[in-house]
This record gives sequence, C-alpha cells and structure tokens, in this order.
Amino acid sequence: MTTTNGYSDSQESDLLPEEDYKLLMKDIGFVPYWLQDITEEKMEEKYNLTQQQYMQEEKEIKEEEGQYFHEPDPAIPVKEEFAGPYNFQVSLANQDSSKHWVYSQVLKKVFINMEETLPLRFKWEPPEDGFVLRTAMVFSLDQYASDPVRRCHNHMAPNNPCNRDVDPRVIKHVVRCTHHLTMYEERNEHLSIVTPLNRPQPGSQYVPICLKFLCKNSCPSGMNRRPTELIFTLEDRNRRILGRRRLPVRVCSCPKRDKKKEEAEVSENQPDIKKRKLCIPVGKKMMPSCDTHVFNVQLNIVGKENYLAVLKYAYDIMAGQAARTGQLDFFKPYMDDILRKAP
Ligand SMILES: [Zn+2]
Repeated sequence: MTTTNGYSDSQESDLLPEEDYKLLMKDIGFVPYWLQDITEEKMEEKYNLTQQQYMQEEKEIKEEEGQYFHEPDPAIPVKEEFAGPYNFQVSLANQDSSKHWVYSQVLKKVFINMEETLPLRFKWEPPEDGFVLRTAMVFSLDQYASDPVRRCHNHMAPNNPCNRDVDPRVIKHVVRCTHHLTMYEERNEHLSIVTPLNRPQPGSQYVPICLKFLCKNSCPSGMNRRPTELIFTLEDRNRRILGRRRLPVRVCSCPKRDKKKEEAEVSENQPDIKKRKLCIPVGKKMMPSCDTHVFNVQLNIVGKENYLAVLKYAYDIMAGQAARTGQLDFFKPYMDDILRKAP
C-alpha cells in the first residue's frame, strides 16, 4: 500500500530522495558526517558523535512523519495512540445519574446499554476549525483485527422497527453519532463515521460529541461476544491522521453487572486458574492449564454463522490457554486446524 506521496508507508523516511534529505538535514541544523569536511584524525571522534546525533535526529524525523503520513484505510485497523501535533485528547463527560453507562477505571473501558447516549469530549490545541473526527469500532483481539464490526442480522433486519426510515447505508453501522452532519463510510468493508469538528464554543475547551450503539457485543451473528473498542482519529480535510485515541467499549444489557464481572476476571485471573480443575499433577509439579489430552468432537451445526461461532469459540479458548500457560507450540497445530475448517 502506498501513501499519497508515493512512498511505502513503512519506509517513507528511508526512501526520502537525497536532495530532500539534505534539505531536511540543513533545515534542522544538522550535517551528517559524510557531508562534513573533516580531517582524518578527527574522523573517529566526529563519527561517534555525529552518528549518535544522526540516529536521534532520524528517529525524530521518522516519528514526526509517521504522524502525518499514516495510511488512513489499511485492511487491519491501526490502534496505536498518539496525541500528535494538536495534542488530540478524548475524555468522557461527567457520569449522570441514569446509569445507562459506566466507566471502569481498572479496565479503562466503557460499559453501555444499547441505544443509550455516550457523551464524549474532544480536545485539540490550538482549537482550529477544519478538522474531522473519525470513529471506528474494531475488535480488540488481534486474531479478529481484520474482521469488520457490523450489526447482527437481527438488528440489521429491514423489518426491525429501529431501522424504519433509516438510510440503508447507515443500517449496518453499530456506532451512530447524534451530530446531523455525520457521514457513514465503508472502506475495505470496515465501517466508520466521520463527524465535522468545529472549534469549541466560547468559554469551552472541548467539543462534545454523543455516540449511540445499535447492537450488543453478545449478539451471535454480529460481534458475537468478541471485545471491541472505539478508535478515534483527528483528521484534516485530506484525511491525514493527526492524532489517534482508543476507548474499549462493551454494549450490553447490564453495564454495572458486566463491569463488575470483567473487573473480577482481571483481578482474580491468576487465582482463578488455580481454582478451576485445570490443574493436574505432572510428576510432582503442579502446572496451570496442563490438561493436554486432545478430544475430537464431531457435531452437526445448523447455520453457517453458528458453525463459525463454534469454531471461533474453540479457537478463542485455546488461544487464551496457550497465552496463559506459554504452551503456544503445543496448542498451535490444533488452532491452525480450526482455521483450516473455517470457510
Ligand atoms: Zn445485534
């Protein structure tokens, strides 16, 4: 994939044309050792010094360019956070008394009811006009990173009352924005919404944006219990990404209950493994999750979605166990076998 300047996105600074590079070096007041007129005796000393400077400067240039020339629509969403030159920040508005959403400090994650409003605040400095906010919901786990997040069949159905009078391009989006100028986009099958950002109102430091979620993480033919997060990017009119932030979100029926449950899972992760029947003695040692007996299961499953859901669940639990026990080599062939069965 190439960016608008024609360089590969991973190597743009390596491939800077020589003249541009010299100009850039001149601009930042640095002359590489091979362009300097120095005597042989001083070469070694100079080399060591300038080489270090060069590495530092090159690192800074790469970091700076990286902020401006990220490819905006890769097949796998990019999640790395960066404040960028405009110090892009997102925060949650104060929690109201409605309890339709809760934020977990421990998990840095929002739990929210479907169709309820999540009030967010976006800030960039200086607060100039002409930017847009792109919001995309993506799967948190790397193994699903390339899968687009869409509403489930049930919530997307045209006869579902919630889809009445809704633009067909909007219907498959899980995330909606209450801003009336929001555009609903699809690129490489990945969905995102683009909201214009005007400078904050006088006396305010931020722009409020409200989002709603029109499908639940538990919906079997949609997100199918896979964890998700929102990726926010500050973009200019040419879709150049100037900052990126992420916020894990779970859309569910009982935000408070699910928050407690997930927090407990995290804090008791290790003791839990020991408590469960995952320990069997190997020699005199106790090893976690070391039940390595392989079971062969033959099932008849109705429906392709259900079949895929079963495969994914089996893959997931093995991947989780492989990660916890460090026995990836053992699990991998069985996980690969599952991938081969997925059409
Ligand atoms: Zn759904």
